[in-house]
Amino acid sequence: MSRIQPLKRISTLALRQRKAHLLRSFELSPQVLHASLIERFLKCGKANCRCHTGGPKHGPFLYLNRCFAKGQMQSLLLKSPAQIEQARRSVAAYAHVQQVLDEISQINHELLRRDEPLVAAA
Ligand SMILES: [Zn+2]
Repeated sequence: MSRIQPLKRISTLALRQRKAHLLRSFELSPQVLHASLIERFLKCGKANCRCHTGGPKHGPFLYLNRCFAKGQMQSLLLKSPAQIEQARRSVAAYAHVQQVLDEISQINHELLRRDEPLVAAA
C-alpha cells in the first residue's frame, strides 16, 4: 500500500519538512487493530440443503482474522453491522499507521544514505 517514491531527487530540507509534518500530524487511533477481514461462503449443517449438492453456499460471512503467533490465528465471525463497521475502521486505522511508519522509514533510509543526521540539531 505504501507509495515508493523516488526520494533521491527530493532535497534534504523537503525530506525533513515532510517527516516533521508526518510526526506532528500522527495520532495513534484507539481503534487500531492488526487483522484482516475475510469473506467466506460456507456449507450449512443440513445434509439435504442445496449447498451440499453443488448449489450456492451460504454467505458471505465476514471474519476478522488475526495472527497472534507464528502459524496461529484467531478468527472472529462478525455478526452485527455495527461490529463489521467497527472492524473495518479498526483495520483501516492500522493500515494508516503502517503507511505513516513506512513513509518515515523511507525518509530516514534516504537521510542515512546521504549520511545526514536523522534528528535535526536543536
Ligand atoms: Zn446449506
